[in-house]
Amino acid sequence: MQGQNNVSRRSFIGGLATALTWAGAYPNLTFPAQNRSQRGPDDYDRMAKLSFNENPYGPSNVVMKAMTDAFKYSNRYGYPDGGITEAIAKHHGVKPDNVLLGAGSGEILKVADDAFLIDHKKVVGVDPTFQTVYQFAVNSRAEAIKIPLLKDYRMDIPGIIKSVKNNYRDVGFVYVVNPNNPTGNIIPKQEIQLLLDSIPGDVPVLIDEAYHHFVDDPNYATSVPYVIEGRQVIVTRTFSKIAALAGMRLGYGLAPKELIARMRPFANGSINAIVKWGGVAALNDTATQDWTKKTTLALRKKVTDQLTGLGYSVIPSEANFFMAHVRRDVTPIIAEFEKKGVLVGRKFPPMVEHLRVSIGTAEEMDRFMTAFKEIFKQT
Ligand code: PLP
Repeated sequence: MQGQNNVSRRSFIGGLATALTWAGAYPNLTFPAQNRSQRGPDDYDRMAKLSFNENPYGPSNVVMKAMTDAFKYSNRYGYPDGGITEAIAKHHGVKPDNVLLGAGSGEILKVADDAFLIDHKKVVGVDPTFQTVYQFAVNSRAEAIKIPLLKDYRMDIPGIIKSVKNNYRDVGFVYVVNPNNPTGNIIPKQEIQLLLDSIPGDVPVLIDEAYHHFVDDPNYATSVPYVIEGRQVIVTRTFSKIAALAGMRLGYGLAPKELIARMRPFANGSINAIVKWGGVAALNDTATQDWTKKTTLALRKKVTDQLTGLGYSVIPSEANFFMAHVRRDVTPIIAEFEKKGVLVGRKFPPMVEHLRVSIGTAEEMDRFMTAFKEIFKQT
């Protein structure tokens, strides 16, 4: 199923073009040491790209076909759209007015900032985490209250609760990522429940489930049932990771309809005609999702076992990436990897000795391990 049409997938997505689209969507994120704009597409294609938690396999054949067939709608603004909103609603057992589409789930994060941080309100979350929400907050002259991770890198839910209570009138919303990026660990379902039960009921909580599809831990649960219950919860999901559509830009938020109504005026609606059809096909293509999860988790286990075998500790991850403690500052290490044709994640202060590595193909992970052994022998 996989690997059959890699060439066409690659030329469709276009390695460098994808990277630049992504860069455009996240102008405030720091790229690793490399300067992508000075590198040709061929150079970039040759790299093992383990830096952005992407899906290395590309969209499945059925998704490719749905998108290719939809090119003929390129002249239309919104419709026909393949019934994407209805398909997402059905998939989660919610109504279409509980769904807000975004050009990537990143757009929903921006919309939440715009909708809930009016009048300089504050967003409360952990640090480090996916920092886009904090960056958007700062851009709109709001403020981020960042609660440090606990010593064992778990997210400090009691710390968030305390901070929300202390700042109640000023808090626009709470942001948590489950599983977290960059650490890959989860917030257990009891702690999500504790969070929602402990803070004032009118404070929206955005739960970013970008990596939901990779989780195996039975202590994890999606927070979609809270949306169905009518709690002030927004769950975001993306087609970028499990469905390999990062460059096509499609994600969504699920929330009670009053919250969606507050957010919708801030949404751009600029989702391309083609990916909507790809999204519908991807939702139905559970076989490829299962394959991707299984393959990714097996490779994650193999590589993290190798690293622990070499004496390096790894934070237990439930996502398509992991963090290893390399016991020295990662900035020169990232540059060393790049010289060897392997792109790894950027530095995530204050975790300056932790390297974030995405799970690529088996061949890419072998390249990573070879480079790792060489780098850590020399330095
Ligand atoms: N949320 C998290 C936690 C992420 O790691 C990412 C991307 O890496 C996103 C959201 C944004 O993804 P997208 O805008 O591609 O849906």
